[in-house]
Amino acid sequence: MQRLRQIVCAGLCRYYKPDKIEPVGCGGLEWLKVRPALQAALAGLRPQPGGQLFGLRDDDPRLWAICNQCGFRVDGCDFRDPAVPASQCAPCGGLRAVAGLLAAGQELEL
Ligand code: SF4
Repeated sequence: MQRLRQIVCAGLCRYYKPDKIEPVGCGGLEWLKVRPALQAALAGLRPQPGGQLFGLRDDDPRLWAICNQCGFRVDGCDFRDPAVPASQCAPCGGLRAVAGLLAAGQELEL
């Protein structure tokens, strides 16, 4: 889990605070946590500036599948809050990590 948090939270999440680790992570982190075989591919992700979701659309149903099982979605996620303009929010690292895997051609059951 330590390595996963390093890659996903420290590496990809703009909300990451090293002194405030939540016991339960976002939907993406929890989904990835039980799929350790994906960690090597995650470590190879190279995000580009401006490419928050590695080229995937915000409304990609595979990404919604992650958000729909996230404990922060209803109360705690600006990115999936329709009241927050897109220019004022960003996806979390867990969602970005899953998007990066999908964009790299990984077949994920979502
Ligand atoms: S973008 Fe929001 S709802 Fe989706 S996984 Fe991240 S925190 Fe959860």
